[in-house]
Amino acid sequence: MSTVAPVIKRPAKRSQGRPAPELIFGDLWQFDPAPETADPKLKARYELFINGKFVAPSSGKYFDSINPANEQKLTEIAHGNAADVDAAYAAAKKAFDHTWGKLPGKERAKYLYRIARLLQDRAREFAVAETLDGGKPIKESRDFDVPMAAAHFFYHAGWADKLDYVAPGRKVAPLGVVGQVIPWNFPLLMLAWKLAPALAMGNTVVIKPAETTSVTALKLAEIFQDAGLPPGVVNIVTGFGDTGAAIMGHATAAKVAFTGSTEVGKIIMRSLAGTDKKMTMELGGKAANIVFDDAPIDQAVEGIVNGIFFNQGHVCCAGSRLLVQETVADEVLAKLKNRIRTLRVGDPIDKNTDIGAINSKEQLHTIEKLVAAGVKEGATMYQPPCKLPTKGFYFRPTLFSDVSMSSRVAREEIFGPVLSILTFRTLDEAIEKANNTAYGLSAGVWTDKGSRILKMSTELKAGVVWANTYNKFDPTSPFGGYKESGFGREGGRQGLLDYCKLV
Ligand code: NAP
Ligand code: MG
Repeated sequence: MSTVAPVIKRPAKRSQGRPAPELIFGDLWQFDPAPETADPKLKARYELFINGKFVAPSSGKYFDSINPANEQKLTEIAHGNAADVDAAYAAAKKAFDHTWGKLPGKERAKYLYRIARLLQDRAREFAVAETLDGGKPIKESRDFDVPMAAAHFFYHAGWADKLDYVAPGRKVAPLGVVGQVIPWNFPLLMLAWKLAPALAMGNTVVIKPAETTSVTALKLAEIFQDAGLPPGVVNIVTGFGDTGAAIMGHATAAKVAFTGSTEVGKIIMRSLAGTDKKMTMELGGKAANIVFDDAPIDQAVEGIVNGIFFNQGHVCCAGSRLLVQETVADEVLAKLKNRIRTLRVGDPIDKNTDIGAINSKEQLHTIEKLVAAGVKEGATMYQPPCKLPTKGFYFRPTLFSDVSMSSRVAREEIFGPVLSILTFRTLDEAIEKANNTAYGLSAGVWTDKGSRILKMSTELKAGVVWANTYNKFDPTSPFGGYKESGFGREGGRQGLLDYCKLV
């Protein structure tokens, strides 16, 4: 920490009845930069990972992956096409028929445990790579993404030899080859959510990470090699444009699992209608975080901040709509303003940073466009006066109050650090407003009363309801949506059931 003391503006002579000192939050606790220094061990170029080997794409084409914190090129990534996707499915089919699909569960478990342990061994390296490639604060990739990814492999390793108990009274069997496509907001964690249950159940996989965040997937492929995972069990085809559609539509896929936007999810569902492929869709969200007047307000404010500003709001289940009971609305808003003035926005590799870089220029434009729409529609905007780095993609934490239910900022997924605040008077009004959305992924409830928590969690049409906390995850808990947030579950016994057939 530097020796610079917090700046406190004091009137010259306080004894003359002038106001109490005013804290200038933006200047509080100046820290020296504390960048995480672990070597991310990046290659200058990443190839496709097919049949256990890194191979050049058949097109010979590569695209750049940049660091959104400074817009500099980090590495380049192979652009896979339909021919590469064919090769990946052929390898996966062979592995399913001859090795992985034939292995007893207790043998598969050994590989999954090995992958989890090797990931733990290289945790800091992976955290730095994730932060450089995607822009999330290092304290999140270090304390959340990487440990949770390892936890998913551990948890599913534990299931692999106990699958006789996953559907009581029934036997289960793997589906075959599974095609998977994931987004950029939790690149390694979404990969683990997809791979671990599929592999534990005995399926083999062809998977595509998002265009802007392929690095940690390909680093995990190094771990697959070190773990001795049989060739073809996991195949990673990077790319953009048609690559994802080629994976989702491939004739060999017995099941497809997609996480991404509702818009793309609908395109995939339309294109697969009439086929016999099993499908799971984890799509967008517009969660309500609901604060009653008996809630512990300071804790709720921390939960609201964590709910929307965690990972720059690049979270499908972000608590992006705050519903606050009218009697405490002013107090909550004042406390929220104070709290977000202390958030540090800046270089994500710095261990002090709370809000890192927006993942891409396109996403930054989307956020700016929706925020401008909020202002135009008459909502009151508040942003703290923090300085933003001159290079890179950044956005200030933003509050919108006086928001109407019909406003775009109350209805559309912004996927950025932007909170829309609405008020309610009664419990019924809170339920009605919370459910008045096309989405249904998650919700939060803040109250002192257990009975109210039970009532709300029954009435809210959301896959996950957190009570007096927010954004808590565990591999044992199924996660997934209602309505346009998709169908199918990831995590827990329910997640495993989406990767098997009952026999
Ligand atoms: P996106 O645009 O839908 O892209 C997701 C993935 O789909 C990317 O890998 C993308 O490839 C690929 N893709 C694009 N068009 C495709 C097509 N026609 N067929 C097959 N694949 C295609 O979403 P995003 O912007 O990356 O991610 C943000 C969204 O994901 C948000 O809506 C968020 O709520 C949702 N999300 C949901 C969950 C959940 O569990 N419910 C979790 C995380 C995120 P390219 O990158 O090459 O375009
Ligand atoms: Mg990148």
